[in-house]
Amino acid sequence: MSLVRSKNSRPELKVRKAVFALGYRFRLHDRTLAGCPDLVFKKARRVIFVHGCFWHRHGRCSLARVPKSRVNFWLAKLESNRLRDVTNQRRLKAAGWKVLTIWECQLKSAALVNYRLRRFLDAKR
Ligand SMILES: [Zn+2]
Repeated sequence: MSLVRSKNSRPELKVRKAVFALGYRFRLHDRTLAGCPDLVFKKARRVIFVHGCFWHRHGRCSLARVPKSRVNFWLAKLESNRLRDVTNQRRLKAAGWKVLTIWECQLKSAALVNYRLRRFLDAKR
């Protein structure tokens, strides 16, 4: 489990590479948008978040297990992260943005990630 939470994480770099290879261009970490999305496709009004399973509490994911010590601390902290994600995505959607979340654990399958990226980015509004 990685306890380091950062922009430009390895999962995020993987997604950026995949999107770039599909021929899409994007901006990074737009702080003017709710939640500061990792990849921003302004003209298409789409954003992608790349979420670490631990920090963002991926449901029923083995990478999202809560540490055995200081359980209450972690539960409160991680749950507040999750709620913040929900709020941010709701705000983005209300402002007309389409939102895709790619989870760290999903990056094990490049084919699946490519499929999801293409479907999300190709879709006509
Ligand atoms: Zn996961």
